[in-house]
Amino acid sequence: MTESTDQATAPSARTTVKRGANRAVYAGEEVKAILDAGTIAHVGVNTPDGPIVLPMAYGRDDDTIFVHGSVANAMLRAGRSVEVCITVTIVDGLVVARTPFHNSMNYRSVVIRGEATAVEPERMLETLKIINDHVVPTWDLARAPSELDVKQTLVLELPLAEASAKVRGEGAIDEDIDMDGPHWAGVVPLTSTWGTPITNEDLRSEIPVPEVLTAMAGTDANPGKAYG
Ligand SMILES: Cc1cc2nc3c(=O)[nH]c(=O)nc-3n(C[C@H](O)[C@H](O)[C@H](O)COP(=O)(O)OP(=O)(O)OC[C@H]3O[C@@H](n4cnc5c(N)ncnc54)[C@H](O)[C@@H]3O)c2cc1C
Repeated sequence: MTESTDQATAPSARTTVKRGANRAVYAGEEVKAILDAGTIAHVGVNTPDGPIVLPMAYGRDDDTIFVHGSVANAMLRAGRSVEVCITVTIVDGLVVARTPFHNSMNYRSVVIRGEATAVEPERMLETLKIINDHVVPTWDLARAPSELDVKQTLVLELPLAEASAKVRGEGAIDEDIDMDGPHWAGVVPLTSTWGTPITNEDLRSEIPVPEVLTAMAGTDANPGKAYG
C-alpha cells in the first residue's frame, strides 16, 4: 500500500493535516483500525506545571478512547474537563534516502484532540476492562479488582470526534539530481512480534499459561502494517 486515497474530510479546521496532506486519513474506520493495532498512547495535557506528554496504555470502545492511571497522577488529574491531545504511533519502517535530508519513516499515527472527562464510578469497571483487554485480553481470566483498586484509579475518556490519522507506506522519495548517484535508497521494515510467555518463578506449578497468551506468541504486535 502507498499513500491513502481516503477522501473523507477532516472533522475540524485544526484537525486538517496541512503538511503531508496526501498522507491524511480521516475515515473513522481507518482511524479505529490504527488505534486497535497500537499499544501505547502519548497523552498530552497542559498542567499547572506546564505541558507534559506521558506514555500510557489505552483502550477504545466505539467512538471513545480511554486512558487510566492512579488518582494521584498529576497529568490525568489536570486532564479532567480540559482540552487534551492523545497520539498513537506505530512505526512500520525506516526510510533511507539517497540523502539524509529525505530520510523518513513509514508509520501509522492518530492524533485525537478534544475535551477529556473523568469516567463516573459506575462505569469504572467496564472501562478498565476495555483498557486492560486492549493491551492483553485477560480481564475475565484474572482476579477482579477490589473496590479499593477501583477507587484508587482515574479513567479519562475522550471522544474520537476530532481525530486525524497520517499513514506513510512507501519507499524513499529522492530528488532528480540524486537518481543516478551511488547512494542506496529503500526501506528497513520494522516488525514487532510477541514472544513466548515466561511463567513467573513464584507461580504454583499446576497453573497453565492461558491460551490467549500462548496464542499471541509469534503474532504481529501491531497488525495491519501499511508497507513492506
Ligand atoms: C513516527 C513519526 C516520525 C515523524 N518524524 C517527524 C520529524 O522528525 N519531523 C517532522 O517535522 N515531522 C515528523 N513527523 C510528522 C509529524 O507528526 C507531523 O505530521 C508533521 O511534522 C507536520 O506537523 P505540522 O504541525 O506542520 O502539522 P499540520 O499539518 O499543520 O497539523 C494539522 C493537524 O493535522 C493533524 N496531524 C498532524 N500530524 C499528524 C500525525 N502525524 N498523525 C495524525 N494527525 C496529524 C493534527 O490534527 C494537527 O492538529 C513524524 C511522524 C511520525 C508518525
